[in-house]
Amino acid sequence: DYYCKACIFSGNIRVFCRCRPLSREESSNGCATVVDFDAAKDGDLGVLTGGSNKRTFKFDRVYTPKDGQVDVFADASPLVVSVLDGYNVCIFAYGQTGTGKTFTMEGPEHNRGVNYRTLEQLFSVARERSDAFTYNLSVSVLEVYNEQIRDLLATSPASKKLEIKQTSEGSHHVPGIVEAKVDNINDVWSVLQAGSNARAVGSNNVNEHSSRSHCILCIMVKTKNLMNGECTKSKLWLVDLAGSERLAKTDAQGERLKEAQNINKSLSALGDVIYALATKSSHIPYRNSKLTHLLQDSLGGDSKTLMFVQISPSEHDLSETLSSLNFATRVR
Ligand code: ADP
Ligand code: MG
Repeated sequence: DYYCKACIFSGNIRVFCRCRPLSREESSNGCATVVDFDAAKDGDLGVLTGGSNKRTFKFDRVYTPKDGQVDVFADASPLVVSVLDGYNVCIFAYGQTGTGKTFTMEGPEHNRGVNYRTLEQLFSVARERSDAFTYNLSVSVLEVYNEQIRDLLATSPASKKLEIKQTSEGSHHVPGIVEAKVDNINDVWSVLQAGSNARAVGSNNVNEHSSRSHCILCIMVKTKNLMNGECTKSKLWLVDLAGSERLAKTDAQGERLKEAQNINKSLSALGDVIYALATKSSHIPYRNSKLTHLLQDSLGGDSKTLMFVQISPSEHDLSETLSSLNFATRVR
């Protein structure tokens, strides 16, 4: 029963930490691991910071490299289903490039991640409730790169810049973006394919490009209550964030520098917004980045937020790992 499971979420911001396995290459090089999962069941993650020093970070959930996509989705599932109850929801994957953000959200075809499982689950719950509700689902696939929004479902390259507009009721939207209606999981698959094909266009290295842009899947739900005829709208955002790693000083020039500054700006803006919400600040600085501005309606109020903090177990990544864990500790 989904309603029951949702009880584990008290409050509106959750932070889950997921550690990837050592890669084959790291293992064969005898790479040391700095993460300890002794108390992972209690949400505690230990990090060996050198010598006999250990720091412990507390999360709502900790996933070890042995935990799979099914384990992760089991915990995210009550949250995603709440979009069918009228809640706005945001799910983010944060972390250094190569720590599994795309693995968690997209996943390989034979072992799909949160995005696909979410839609599968939404269709299945919608079917179970079809006596009482009608749900219409549509999806948009966007990218935010260098503080510009790109519609990955647009059939022709947009001549005009996409801008965020506020409606008279105060909600935010991007006029002109494609909202593809999806009736079943097969529709979803072709839309997601179209989105990832578009991401490749105009970039000579897709992986590099996607690690410097925020990849966003937005699921829009229109609900009609068949008992009283009431209609509601809600949104679920699934965001594979740009890599959080700091730029090497030697790379700090030209286009790379600009990209890095924009990533830095938007990730810290996201951290600031979540921190302001968590501490019930009177001013929430949504306007400091395109990403937080775009997601404004779904961050705060009675919206629900889940952040996956992705980390590497390797000692070579220790300083980036600590930096991601510190970011997470602040948002929590
Ligand atoms: P990111 O999107 O953060 O840059 P990726 O999702 O591309 O990272 O993951 C980097 C590599 O690690 C990929 O080869 C991916 O398949 C692998 N990987 C990441 N997380 C896991 C995991 N939990 N289990 C198995 N392999 C993983
Ligand atoms: Mg990625």
